[in-house]
Amino acid sequence: MKKAIGVDLGGTYIKYGLVDETGKILKSGMLPTKAEEKNRDVVIEQISLAIKNVWENDIEGIGIGTPGVVDNYGAVFESPNLPDWHNFNVKEVFEKKFNKLVVVENDANSIAWGEYLFGAGKGTRAIVCLTLGTGLGGGVVINGKLLRGAIYSAAELGHMPVDYKGRKCGCGSTGCIEAYVGRDYIVHSAIRKIKMGKESVLTEMAGNLSEITPKMISEAYQKGDKVAEEVWVEMATALGAFLAGMVNMLNPDRIILAGGIAQAGEILFSTVRKTIKERAMRVLSETVEVVPAGLGNDSGIVSGAALVFQK
Ligand SMILES: [Zn+2]
Repeated sequence: MKKAIGVDLGGTYIKYGLVDETGKILKSGMLPTKAEEKNRDVVIEQISLAIKNVWENDIEGIGIGTPGVVDNYGAVFESPNLPDWHNFNVKEVFEKKFNKLVVVENDANSIAWGEYLFGAGKGTRAIVCLTLGTGLGGGVVINGKLLRGAIYSAAELGHMPVDYKGRKCGCGSTGCIEAYVGRDYIVHSAIRKIKMGKESVLTEMAGNLSEITPKMISEAYQKGDKVAEEVWVEMATALGAFLAGMVNMLNPDRIILAGGIAQAGEILFSTVRKTIKERAMRVLSETVEVVPAGLGNDSGIVSGAALVFQK
């Protein structure tokens, strides 16, 4: 059976594994990225170590999901979490080092491809996959191919403006959907409501308001907390409105919500589904399903390997 190494490069950790062509992880591990040392060679050394830890001579190749905009030559641009990772050809470096095929892809695109090949997108024609976390990552698969673009960098979905006079976004623009559904926004939204005098179990749960996390807001919602409910409904309504636009544009069979914040649960999914139904073209909204990711915690590893298995 064919095998490949998948590498999920994060700002804090590198997750890696040996994966077979059915998407099963055979061996895996985790190493610190050491991005804080601000030295690209150190990060390259860590990735090399990760690859060697699960190396087998007969692998098909190595797939790397990295933050940032990645072009068709495997070069990375604008990667905010890895400051030294600009205008840098990751593919070339590792192909030279390991003498195997190396595929480099933006991490959210990589997850979309992994979900399409092995996860919740199996058997579809078109998916939109969102990774909900600190930011909002996106990837689109249409007719069995990742949606590309002039320099292969399409589907920066988190930075689609939903309000042209809206909130400031981390990317420098205003009104991007990320500024309404990203981690910090969710937390600030809860804090704002509590500071306005609304009662919430979050005050006691967090001790200090600045300690509130999205996970805590989910737990508070489970306990029937009204503030937590409002936070999720507002966030999911914004997300649903944005996705109604995606539905109208791309007519996906499935929308897949991945990432830590997608674990907010049923309130998130039901509100997103309801909003899409209300806002997208009727016939398109009737055919789309909104589903949780299928790959779980190691999705970055499986997706990295999936990049090698694409043909
Ligand atoms: Zn933005």
